Amino acid sequence: MQVRKRPLNKKEISKKEEDIIDIEQRSNSLTVHETKLKVDLTEYVEKHEFVFDAVLDEDVSNDEVYRETVEPVVPAIFNRTKATCFAYGQTGSGKTYTMRPLPLKASQDILRLMHHTYRNQGFQLFVSFFEIYGGKLFDLLNDRSKLCMREDGKQKVCIVGLQEYRVSDVETIKELIEKGSATRSTGTTGANEESSRSHAILQLAIKRRVDGNDSKPPRPVGKLSFIDLAGSERGADTTDNDKQTRIEGAEINKSLLALKECIRALDNDQTHIPFRGSKLTEVLRDSFIGDSRTVMISCISPSSGSCEHTLNTLRYADRVKSLSKGGNAKKDVPSAVPLRESSPSPLPSVVPSFSGSEMMNDITERRDFGWPKQQQYLKEQPTPTFADRMPKVKEGVEFRSLNGLYFKEKKSKGGTAPNIAEVPDIMYQQGIQPARKTKDSALDNNMGNSIAYPVRRAEPDEEDEHLNDLLQEEEDLVSAHRKQVEETLAILTEELNIIGEADQPGNQLDDYIARLSSILSQKAAGIVDLQSRLEQFQRRLNENSVLIYAQCP
Ligand code: ADP
Ligand code: MG
Repeated sequence: MQVRKRPLNKKEISKKEEDIIDIEQRSNSLTVHETKLKVDLTEYVEKHEFVFDAVLDEDVSNDEVYRETVEPVVPAIFNRTKATCFAYGQTGSGKTYTMRPLPLKASQDILRLMHHTYRNQGFQLFVSFFEIYGGKLFDLLNDRSKLCMREDGKQKVCIVGLQEYRVSDVETIKELIEKGSATRSTGTTGANEESSRSHAILQLAIKRRVDGNDSKPPRPVGKLSFIDLAGSERGADTTDNDKQTRIEGAEINKSLLALKECIRALDNDQTHIPFRGSKLTEVLRDSFIGDSRTVMISCISPSSGSCEHTLNTLRYADRVKSLSKGGNAKKDVPSAVPLRESSPSPLPSVVPSFSGSEMMNDITERRDFGWPKQQQYLKEQPTPTFADRMPKVKEGVEFRSLNGLYFKEKKSKGGTAPNIAEVPDIMYQQGIQPARKTKDSALDNNMGNSIAYPVRRAEPDEEDEHLNDLLQEEEDLVSAHRKQVEETLAILTEELNIIGEADQPGNQLDDYIARLSSILSQKAAGIVDLQSRLEQFQRRLNENSVLIYAQCP
């Protein structure tokens, strides 16, 4: 996990926005300085420190980024490795700027190896370039023609109709990359906006001729994928009233959440990877199994105006890396410092005295969705799951969970195909389809999020929407909780201040009473707000469980 900071741009400078990201030279940590308001409306700065595998400052060139991230992995793709490089971040943070030069540089190195080290060994290089937009696939090297994704009997994902060009010189690759990039940024509407709502996937595949024979299709050896992800702000932005944008936002949100879960599962050597969470992760399935390596470059803007998005990006990156082997422990422990020396509150000494940082640690900890911990917990102390609370249903029908999703599955005797004749008619009348049972299928796993989402098995679109909504609502709840805790910390600090002042001789009692009253109202409002959000979320979960109850004879 790497983070790259871009320089302030002209617009940000003209708006007098400040650079709020500090990176100590040659260190792997960075600090975000977030300006916040206290209850009494004075400003203070909260520092958030993060640690990653590498932190690339604004003066780091694209060449250096290549050397840090991709170059080391190139030789491995001649030896069955599948490497994937992601650029993550809000629109305008530098994802495309970072990703664009990488495939060409990698191709140069690949061709060099093919023509020298692996000379006459039958290796061939293929390029493909497509995008996922609104859950659909488009070929960027073939006039954006629409593509279908299929899974063969061995669960191998295949993109039907995707143009793969065999290339043997750098110039051709350059032309193809430029052509694809141009197709992407023009899109169907000609609006550049569209590229921020799509994931672009450029793949360099190494194949090898079978027995030096040109008539047989070459055998895939390894792959290097470059993924310029959709703008991460879509995930957070649910306020948009345009239905299409909201749907796209939900789709992007789902794919970024699913991607996070997949990478975490991979890092943790889990046997089940929740590929089916989204189109993006399904497409990448074969890059994630076997010998696979992933690197993610989280791009951030330095400006104060992007502070919230930057923190979101860094928190996402932090959660992705937090389980990786040798990964550094999460660090986002806000500490408050006064913005101006004249500010009377000695915050740094005050915050730890009521264990504020421990509280934050604790929350980040739980927010991690750490599967190993959950698994352990479940083993030691079985808590009733949603399935446990379900009434016993007809023999042969059971509930399984998929990445937290519960739905009906027909146990088929002696075969993999579901016996449709055995499914009660009522399921069809209600648009419920029996789940297919596949080996190693994501149906068999229940990892992913900490909450088991009971969802009625329905049409894929409808099911998708349920999952979207629930994932979104869970994220919203957790961020509202985080915000409430942060506000509570600020309020506690303020309270300690006024208590300190009240203790001083000659204090103003009126002032103390007014401030205490205002603080108490704020605290109460914060709790009531969070309570109502929680209740709403619980209701949503129950509503869905009622749907399932209704279908159980
Ligand atoms: P994104 O793809 O994340 O939406 P872009 O890569 O298009 O963002 O970058 C937005 C703008 O910032 C572009 O004009 C780009 O040239 C510029 N930019 C991004 N990163 C850097 C960088 N590291 N150094 C200089 N300019 C950058
Ligand atoms: Mg871009």
